[in-house]
Amino acid sequence: MYNSIKKTVKAIFPKSFLNKHELTFRYLYYQFYRGRKFQCNICTNGLRRFLRTKEGERICPCCGSLARSRRLWDLLQSGYLRKNLKILDFSPSRSLYRKLKREKNYSYTATDFSGEFLADKQYDITDLELPDDSFDLIICYHILEHVEEDLKAMQELYRVLKTSGVCIIQTPFKEGEIFEDPSIRTPEERQKHYGQADHVRIYSVGGLAKRLTMAGFQVEVKAFTEKPGNKNGFKEQEYVLVIQPDIPPFAPPQCENSVQVPFHQPVFRGQQNP
Ligand SMILES: [Zn+2]
Repeated sequence: MYNSIKKTVKAIFPKSFLNKHELTFRYLYYQFYRGRKFQCNICTNGLRRFLRTKEGERICPCCGSLARSRRLWDLLQSGYLRKNLKILDFSPSRSLYRKLKREKNYSYTATDFSGEFLADKQYDITDLELPDDSFDLIICYHILEHVEEDLKAMQELYRVLKTSGVCIIQTPFKEGEIFEDPSIRTPEERQKHYGQADHVRIYSVGGLAKRLTMAGFQVEVKAFTEKPGNKNGFKEQEYVLVIQPDIPPFAPPQCENSVQVPFHQPVFRGQQNP
């Protein structure tokens, strides 16, 4: 239902008009969902229930937030947002873009290479046109699974992140090892093997953590567990990687696979929320 309404509205109205008036449309639609049982922590509106897509995703009808965006906002508020931060966000969710862009305490830059998302810049994550040590906080959500040269992207994140900075990363995950096969190239094959036509691999939590350590990061894996039907519509099980540049004098290696690099086991830290 939600997907078909969204598709119809997108077919009728031009993109620029929708970007300008999206929140008005959503607010009208939200009236059917207004309630007290649930709450979106991004727009703070009370809900009778979340919208459910056929894939089972819980979406806030008012701001359009996904479960992972609500988790990210919750995490950011737990101590990662401070005054005067310089923040870089790759292809942000519209709900968080609007939220963070309004905030005057930070310098918030959103970038999107595809041109599909709300953004201020169009950087290539494997070749960022930015000076070293530029940002205190980088958000890189559901990006790396689209990038063929992901180690190069990680090295660019390392380069533009301040040594005191933090980068928060998530991708879709599977059990076991990373699955990637360069011979899988067509959108149809990628859909079949990776679950989405523009994905180039499926990471595992441990596999991504290991690859990030190869690029020079310390990795902390945060594991969140929630009860089904929780108030904020969080996923029942979710992993987020919080990474920081490893302590100098560690130097990130070059991209070649043959380079020997120090390996630090990522730190796994479970979080049980009530
Ligand atoms: Zn919302």
